[in-house]
Amino acid sequence: MTLKLGVIGTGAIGQDHIRRCTTTLSGAKVVALNDINREQAMRVAKEQGLDAQVYEDGHELIQAADVEAILVTSWGPTHEEFVLAAIAAGKPVFCEKPLAVSAEGCKRIVEAEIAAGKRLVQVGFMRPYDNGYRALKEVLLSGKIGAPLMLHCAHRNPTVGDSYTTDMAITDTLIHELDVLRWLLDDDYVSAQVIFPRKTGKASSHLKDPQIVLLETAKGARIDVEIFVNCQYGYDIQCEVVGETGIAKLPEPSAVQMRSEAKLSVEILTDWKQRFIAAYDVELQGFIDGVRNERLSGPSAWDGFAAAVSADACVEAQQSGAIVAISLPQRPAFYD
Ligand code: NAP
Repeated sequence: MTLKLGVIGTGAIGQDHIRRCTTTLSGAKVVALNDINREQAMRVAKEQGLDAQVYEDGHELIQAADVEAILVTSWGPTHEEFVLAAIAAGKPVFCEKPLAVSAEGCKRIVEAEIAAGKRLVQVGFMRPYDNGYRALKEVLLSGKIGAPLMLHCAHRNPTVGDSYTTDMAITDTLIHELDVLRWLLDDDYVSAQVIFPRKTGKASSHLKDPQIVLLETAKGARIDVEIFVNCQYGYDIQCEVVGETGIAKLPEPSAVQMRSEAKLSVEILTDWKQRFIAAYDVELQGFIDGVRNERLSGPSAWDGFAAAVSADACVEAQQSGAIVAISLPQRPAFYD
């Protein structure tokens, strides 16, 4: 049976997910939409050729009898209330990051899901679905480079808008590394420190850019992540793992190598949507299949909570300049 989806939030990523559910993925169709901007939801329904009801309010959509699962792709501060309402209605929910804007909010979701007695939440962390990260994890699991000791990572965007603030380098940008590196190493963070190198002249006056985040894990690995969101040249994600007997590196996205005009060159992507386009497809297909088979397995509410706790510590470290301890409670057996 085709899974009937309701989508709350028809902005950039909402439209992208609606498109992939409608044209690329299998087993689901969008039957309901909501956005605080009703005209936009109506326009998206028309543009994407949907036979979908547009609801005035996200809560009405969640309650609608024909909506079997929800995609929450609205503005971050609205996520918690919609996810909690979906859990209360017993409906599976895919929520874009962040799961909630505070660690306390994520914890409330974890508690509600455990009380509901089954997994209903998948968080929109797509990097664990990226072929490159999966290949890297396989190398680590194979033992070919021994235990991971150090990771050198970078997250670079060509530019960001004026509304991007110093803490967003953590809450909007680093959050993906916080999730995927925890998954890659099967480890948790125990401390964070943030260092600010010389500031680029290309950043707005209020933004500290670049930044280096130093993380320590429970097993003792050390991670440095460069966040440089006005690097100008492209959207570039790097991850190199130094192990006891070798080094494993995230593969570059495949691109044609050119020899021309006395140069050997390979193009670098500039758009984040292109870099992870396949991962978004696999992620959302995983949600659809997980709901249909009653076995959700993607990034969980606990992963959303762990990322939020770690992000809070990194923001504190930005502000204090100190090494800040990260302490996660014991993971409930529910998430094993
Ligand atoms: P966006 O273009 O601003 O879209 C968000 C939409 O939600 C807007 O249309 C907004 O309407 C609407 N909205 C706000 N409050 C609402 C409410 N109470 N009820 C219903 N709709 C509401 O933002 P976006 O780029 O799509 O991002 C949406 C979320 O996805 C964010 O949390 C973002 O962090 C996440 N995201 C994740 C990834 C990823 O890589 N996983 C990538 C992009 C975005 P107005 O514009 O009228 O306020």
